[in-house]
Amino acid sequence: MNSPRPLAGARQVRRATDGDTLGALRSLQHAMLESVATGRPLAEVMDLLCRSVEAIEPEVICSVLAVDRSSRLRHLSSPSLPQHYIEAIDGLPVGPMAGSCGTAAYLGHPVAVSDIAADPLWADYRQFALPIGLRACWSSPIKSSTGRVIGTLALYRRTTGAPEAFDHDIVESCLHHCAIAIEHEETRRRVSELAFRDALTGLHNRASFQAEAEQALRVVAAGVGAAAIHYIDLDDFKGVNDTLGHRVGDQLLEEAARRLIACAQYEEMVARLGGDEFAVIQPAVASRTEVDTLAARIVAAFEAPFDIEDNRIRIGASVGIAMAPADGCDLVAILRKADLALYEAKGEGRGRYRFFTPEIDAALQRRRVLEHDLRLATEARAFELRYQPIVHLHTGATVAVEALLRWNHPVRGVVSPTEFIAAAEDTGLIEEIGEWALVEACRAAVAWRSEVKVSVNLSCRQFRRAGLLQDIVRALERTGLPPHRLELEITESVILSKSPAVGRTLRDLRAMGVCIVLDDFGTGYSSLSYLRTFPFSKIKIDRSFIADLTSRPDCAAIVRAIIALARDLGIRTTAEGIETAEQLEILREEGCIEGQGYLFGRPMPAADVASLFGAGLSGAGLSGAGHRGAANDAPPRAAGAGSRGI
Ligand code: C2E
Ligand code: MG
Ligand code: MG
Repeated sequence: MNSPRPLAGARQVRRATDGDTLGALRSLQHAMLESVATGRPLAEVMDLLCRSVEAIEPEVICSVLAVDRSSRLRHLSSPSLPQHYIEAIDGLPVGPMAGSCGTAAYLGHPVAVSDIAADPLWADYRQFALPIGLRACWSSPIKSSTGRVIGTLALYRRTTGAPEAFDHDIVESCLHHCAIAIEHEETRRRVSELAFRDALTGLHNRASFQAEAEQALRVVAAGVGAAAIHYIDLDDFKGVNDTLGHRVGDQLLEEAARRLIACAQYEEMVARLGGDEFAVIQPAVASRTEVDTLAARIVAAFEAPFDIEDNRIRIGASVGIAMAPADGCDLVAILRKADLALYEAKGEGRGRYRFFTPEIDAALQRRRVLEHDLRLATEARAFELRYQPIVHLHTGATVAVEALLRWNHPVRGVVSPTEFIAAAEDTGLIEEIGEWALVEACRAAVAWRSEVKVSVNLSCRQFRRAGLLQDIVRALERTGLPPHRLELEITESVILSKSPAVGRTLRDLRAMGVCIVLDDFGTGYSSLSYLRTFPFSKIKIDRSFIADLTSRPDCAAIVRAIIALARDLGIRTTAEGIETAEQLEILREEGCIEGQGYLFGRPMPAADVASLFGAGLSGAGLSGAGHRGAANDAPPRAAGAGSRGI
């Protein structure tokens, strides 16, 4: 094909004409360097060498072999040797009795065989050489700059005999340049490998993944079989990085990569797309069961803990799957769908896998619209706070009101926070909304001219801000609300973030006189140990326990235990979601101090709150004051117009 022509003038040079030969060799060296420098393929550089040597010395046949990482000879160039001989030599192992080249590579010094027919080094190979007239072979190792044997340069002759001094000159002048060319190629390969490999885990990187995925999808698009893409994300990896440091995080990723590799079959490609995101391409899928099996294997592979530097870390993996052609054959679309399925898997509780479905897509579209609307609402300040009384269960007095966010949506009307807080947290909008709610609640509370406290919910996302404490201090100063009238409700997720800053912020707030309330107790991990370590003034028993209080003995037992525990720790308890007199009765008997629920009042506008004060609930709270609730937060809203609660 593109075989290079020997150097001009080389053919005219005859042996032992020293001046011309040296000149030709120098030109050859120069030409080789130039070829390497201009990026010519290695085989082409070596072809140039062989042809030029054979032109200088027409009695020899020149051959260059490389030695690969597994110590096998690899054909590089021997333009004058027949193809079947080349094939016979290619891949032979280096060794002490491996012909001239294999032995020279093994010993690391030149091996001269003056009679191939008789020399024992050729015992296993002479059947290839003799029939094509090769009689003598002198091979020299090509060594890298560090002394490693990376190839051999051989001169064959058709007559028996030892190499001549002239042959030495040729070989001597070429070996170094051969080494440069081969090392250059090795470096080039390593660099290109790095470009397609993830440096930390050694897995394929995103670029490599995309190329492979596109190839797999092309095959499917051509009507052949099916393929699956598994998107994998480690659950809570960020937490490991944040708490145990990046070194442990890196080791965890390396181990994760090993586990994924172990899950995959030969033709399945595992890649790291970045961070803790991985992907597996499963080409040529025969049935959905195969895809199920792989996904289940991946999830199961992360069930065992990771032992890293004396830490036993439990970290699951969630998998989202999209399939071609069912979900399309366009890579961008497939990846988006796999990502959506992953999002769904995470949302469903992590450590599981999900296939993409059109419903997932629809849910996401809704979510997008929601996020978009929420952004507009934040700019337009389309929020409002409603306040729900928290009463003393024995005196019936309102001791606090909880500020609950409402979004006045132009089309949907009043939207409950359960529908938008998660989106506000994911988008980060909660920081702005939360700050607004805090100031607004403080301002409203000051206007009530009462000692009643106002309770504000804080999202765990707000704790990520460095300035949260200052925000709260500023809100109190700006509005003039005394700190002891402010309660902040946080959920267990705040504490589980394990950030030392959280503990500090909570303690500082407590020191200022602000009450810290643990909201929705019993729903999360509910480790009792942090009741000791964090300065809670109060815990709120989640309303799911109260709802089942009268029907399920286990709920009653849990509620009883929480109340007793809190009492022993000197922490007040508030029962959430009290709707019936029976529930109230049980809670009072068990010693619960405060309660909140429709029985006492629904969330109401700020203006209605003032009317609560002074009016004890001794009668109202116990005798169906709940009708008041309809006046406020419950649909239909019109029913509440003008009604003033108690
Ligand atoms: P939460 O803090 O546990 O608030 C109590 C929720 O229970 C409120 O729902 C309240 O309306 C409802 N509730 C009160 N009494 C009863 C009852 O007797 N029966 C029933 N079935 N429900 C009752 P809401 O207002 O929809 O708020 C839901 C959650 O949204 C809140 O739960 C809180 O976690 C979050 N949230 C509300 N406002 C804010 C806010 O300003 N910031 C943040 N970060 N989260 C908020
Ligand atoms: Mg709350
Ligand atoms: Mg709650």
